[in-house]
Amino acid sequence: FTHVAAIPAYWEARQPDAIAMRFAGIDRTWAQLAQRVRRNAAAQRAAGLVPGDRVAVLDLNHPSCLELTLACAQAGTANAVVNFRLAPPEIAYVINDAKARVLFVGPEFAGAVDALRPSLPMLERVIRVGGPQDEYEGWLAAQEPDPTVYPADPDHCFLQLYTSGTTGFPKGAMLTHRGMLAHSRHLSATQSYRTSSRVQVAMPLFHVGGTSTALVALTVGASVILMRTPDPVAALQMLEAEKITHTFFVPALMAAMNQVPGAAARDYSSLEVLCYGASPMPLPVLRASLALFPGVLYQVYGMTEQSGAVSLLGPEDHANPAVAHRLISAGKPITGVEIEIHEPATGELLPPGTPGEIWVRSEQRMGGYWGKPEATAAAFTPDGWLRSGDGGHMDADGYIYITDRIKDLIISGGENIYPAEIERVLAEHPAIQDVAVIGVPDERWGEVPKAVVVLRPGADFDPQETLAWCRERIAAFKCPKTIDVVDALPRNPTGKILKKDLRKPYWEGRE
Ligand code: AMP
Ligand code: MG
Repeated sequence: FTHVAAIPAYWEARQPDAIAMRFAGIDRTWAQLAQRVRRNAAAQRAAGLVPGDRVAVLDLNHPSCLELTLACAQAGTANAVVNFRLAPPEIAYVINDAKARVLFVGPEFAGAVDALRPSLPMLERVIRVGGPQDEYEGWLAAQEPDPTVYPADPDHCFLQLYTSGTTGFPKGAMLTHRGMLAHSRHLSATQSYRTSSRVQVAMPLFHVGGTSTALVALTVGASVILMRTPDPVAALQMLEAEKITHTFFVPALMAAMNQVPGAAARDYSSLEVLCYGASPMPLPVLRASLALFPGVLYQVYGMTEQSGAVSLLGPEDHANPAVAHRLISAGKPITGVEIEIHEPATGELLPPGTPGEIWVRSEQRMGGYWGKPEATAAAFTPDGWLRSGDGGHMDADGYIYITDRIKDLIISGGENIYPAEIERVLAEHPAIQDVAVIGVPDERWGEVPKAVVVLRPGADFDPQETLAWCRERIAAFKCPKTIDVVDALPRNPTGKILKKDLRKPYWEGRE
């Protein structure tokens, strides 16, 4: 494929009666899907939308979001999928930033959208999707299917996903036909996707992990089994009941799954590929997951700006005790992706083992950030390397180790401290369930590490003992000077800890 719009018609011609999507017990064959996409594209034109326009979706997962994305590919418009976990003012920010003209909204969010309407000046129309007041089916049915594809340019944006923004405002990454299809090709080269694959999409479609998993499946003519929300119990049940072959989960969901009673008693023998990633995987969670899903775990390192995955740690590396150190690695670049480590300030290429910034180059790259030419120019080097903002290093065998966001680095008395290293040690402490390490102001050292921890229920916790435990395992200058106990850490929907929120109270009036 050179154009995403070609996908439904291609599989309609070859396997019209095969299942393209299953959701809430309802199946859509390829013939049905292709027809609905053509109606959707026609309805977009009838609504006055022209190439370059944005529509937006604010909904839990629903097949209409994928239909819209495919129809946008055909109509030359782009689907801006809004993170439904954002607060109302943030939702308004994203819809306005996208300049969306039509919004598709799920029943759970219709009330919030009504209240936001006065602050959405560019929005012309709201269409309710699903529930008793559904307007989407009528909107589709009113049009005759239109097969016209416009424009044919593979570098045109058809999908606009907002980066999860652990710093600053979210930015709309403009994903293109070329980039997304390269991602599908690169990933399916290693993960044996076939027309008979049954691909569970549990993660939200507003995130690249959810949508790109669905698009890989559709590209290869496999079936997408879509979940409305990533519920751990329902996801495990579905793996067995639907004979799922491929899936993708974030570490926070894996942690919850490991705790589900009876999880190990189910039959997951159909599973070939279970990807986890999007945020750091704590080792204790990984060990429990390995016991539950032996032989199928892939760690994936990815980012919106590269349409999804850029590196993988495969099952062999998970299973081989001789290379157990690789369990904390994000693996090697996938086919078609180059990764290098560079000194962030000077851009100098760094040798193996030296920490720096992870740079990524691939045909998967986005077209740019919507309406933000300066941010786009800052994100890429002139020869096409994306500066990921992630700190890390590569070992002599080419394995990538992600440490921290470059902005989360703690510089204490001139020494670089990588919070991830300390977090990994503390995560192994028996009393600690969740942990984040941040830099807090210090008169002598500029900043020093502080640990913020969530305790296991009923755990016996002694801060002095825990600090001593740290000092046995890592250099003294890296050890936290203090530990705070909290009920929960602030996380964004993909599980990334919002360190700027954690840091805020300590730096108030100083930064
Ligand atoms: P996003 O901004 O939502 O596209 O998320 C991309 C970011 O998620 C990356 O730049 C990393 O900081 C983080 N990330 C993705 N995969 C992993 C992984 N396997 N381990 C640790 N962090 C990850
Ligand atoms: Mg990002």
